[in-house]
Amino acid sequence: MKYIYTCKNILLLMSMLILISCSNDDNSSEAENTEFAVREYSFDTDANSKLMFRDGEDQELMTSETRRYEIGKIIRVKPIDAFTIEVANFAPVDIENVFIIADIEGVGSKIKLFKINKIRAHAKQEIKYSFLSEETQFINVNGVMVDLSDYSTEGILADKVTFDFMGESELVKKLKTLSKLKWDIRYHDFDENNNPDNNWSDDISAKDIRRFSGMIINLGYIFASEAFEEGFLKEHLIKNDGAIVMTSEEKKELYQKLINKEFLKCGKVVNVSGLGGGSTFGVAEHILRDYLTKKTGHITAHEFGHCLGYNHSSNMTYPIKVEGIKTGIAPLTNRIIEDMFSKKAFPVDGDNYYKSTDLE
Ligand SMILES: [Zn+2]
Repeated sequence: MKYIYTCKNILLLMSMLILISCSNDDNSSEAENTEFAVREYSFDTDANSKLMFRDGEDQELMTSETRRYEIGKIIRVKPIDAFTIEVANFAPVDIENVFIIADIEGVGSKIKLFKINKIRAHAKQEIKYSFLSEETQFINVNGVMVDLSDYSTEGILADKVTFDFMGESELVKKLKTLSKLKWDIRYHDFDENNNPDNNWSDDISAKDIRRFSGMIINLGYIFASEAFEEGFLKEHLIKNDGAIVMTSEEKKELYQKLINKEFLKCGKVVNVSGLGGGSTFGVAEHILRDYLTKKTGHITAHEFGHCLGYNHSSNMTYPIKVEGIKTGIAPLTNRIIEDMFSKKAFPVDGDNYYKSTDLE
């Protein structure tokens, strides 16, 4: 046994020597450099992060522009000033092993700014750029060393930098498919005066928003999927006059319109199952409660059809039967949901959603 260990030690020593000689070489590999240069953070406890959308949080804050996010950047990093950035996870699931990528104006390539070992669901945290006080050498996405010492005293002006994330886990890969969508998401209280004569909930609660944040991810995941895109281009789709069938070209254009929808102002309805039109997108309690276990496309896709300008004569809202078969965006969406349920494919599900009491 002892002999084997000694052998292992010699091998280890030899490989360390090889590594050292490698990193002195200009052709040093990406993997070694990555381990050397990328700072790691965790935002997974009360000590290192705060929670957004926690019960009792001020509704005005939860529905404010500061909480607006791009669905394609569910981990949102934004500059607070030249020295400080805020990292926030807008998904109701913990996310592990992601690199935050900084695109700095004037720096020729995108930098792996740091690695997040774990960020818990809806966590946010402000941090200082590490190059202000620590190592100024970073790795870009191609594995080449970049020196940021030019920024180590003045920082980076907030309008000179944008951020994104990348990672290799199944969850991160799924969340990255959402970058196909241009949607900005913000939550909204559509009934500020608590008017009893409308179909909006008097308030939108933290629990509503937490669940909505998962629903919109899964809906985006459906719409961004190849299966949906292919299905959409094949589906028998009828225009607002209730008769004219869309051509392939028109369906392609409409799919692009769906993908490129810029803004969704998300709220909670009462009395009805959903409301949609323009950027307004509302769903009821039973949708927020059930979307992880039931097919909800007949409501969510229906309302999205309204957001794209379609009325109830088009099957971009209610299905229309053609030769006994229901056609339209709602049955298509429900077919995809059924398939994704059976494959456990959704990015957000009952297992990774962080607050099981939300789903009761
Ligand atoms: Zn409708």
